[in-house]
Amino acid sequence: MMHKTLRTTSVGSFPKPESLQRMRVRYRRGDVSYEELKAAEREATERVIRLQERLGYDLLVHGEMERGDMVAYFAEHWQGFSESLPVRSYGNRYYRKPIVEGPVQGNPGLTVESWKLAQSFTQQPVKGMLTGPYTICDWSFNVHYPDRRALVLDLARVVHEEAKALEEAGAKFIQIDEPAISTRPEEIDLAIEAMGIVTEGLTAHTISHVCYGRFDLIYPALLDLPVTQLDLEAANGHFALLELLSRYPWPQDKELALGVVDVHSHRVESVDEVKAGIRRALELIPPERLYVDPDCGLKTRTWEEAEAKLTVIAEAVQQLRDEEGLS
Ligand SMILES: [Zn+2]
Repeated sequence: MMHKTLRTTSVGSFPKPESLQRMRVRYRRGDVSYEELKAAEREATERVIRLQERLGYDLLVHGEMERGDMVAYFAEHWQGFSESLPVRSYGNRYYRKPIVEGPVQGNPGLTVESWKLAQSFTQQPVKGMLTGPYTICDWSFNVHYPDRRALVLDLARVVHEEAKALEEAGAKFIQIDEPAISTRPEEIDLAIEAMGIVTEGLTAHTISHVCYGRFDLIYPALLDLPVTQLDLEAANGHFALLELLSRYPWPQDKELALGVVDVHSHRVESVDEVKAGIRRALELIPPERLYVDPDCGLKTRTWEEAEAKLTVIAEAVQQLRDEEGLS
């Protein structure tokens, strides 16, 4: 059962067990079968679900054990992409930036199997997880489409088909991540138009996670993103986001999922500081429309850190429920 107010969720990725990471390397070398790799992913997914259930989370994620990078995963499974040489991202981390070299075509149902697997472990709803068209474009090289707009809008059609497949499989919550949209404020209208294509006609609850950037540069335009719920990081910016939100009335038809622990820090927040952040948010947004979660995916943290941070959120919410008499 989900609570009716002040619900808890997670953004997306969880830390991958070292044994699974080793197995992926061995699978690429041909030393491990596809079935063995899938069995390891299945075991890791169950562990992710069990942790969220044990902590009493309302809306669960599957943890993305089958994915490396959130854009490369789709590029590897869709037509029109090839893989480039490694590109440096942060510090000494490298990733392979996809190249769009032909018309993009999806593979509707690609994400259904991992969603179904996770959902089979729990009665709580599990989110279907997609990456948005704007972010896929922004994190790829384009040598086929005449401009970014043409690529983004064609990707929106493909992401929409995948969202439909999730919905038809039974997903009641579908998240379309757009971390890149806060990095180029001049393109916010394009990102909004593309999300309109993705969510058109869906009956599922739609969510979009945005992070990394300057929310002040895309606000209040961000409120026009056509999804039911915006999921925004706040802890990393010491909750300055709430000052921005306080300048405009929060839309009646939107929910906010507020990031209340920093995923880029080893430090585990105290229950009191998380409670203080949530209390400030409750002054702006009614508890029926407020979710809380970590700032971003947890894959950069160790399992112990991820568990500790999720535990702090669960405790903070439980105390607030008791103190405020929330159901
Ligand atoms: Zn993020």
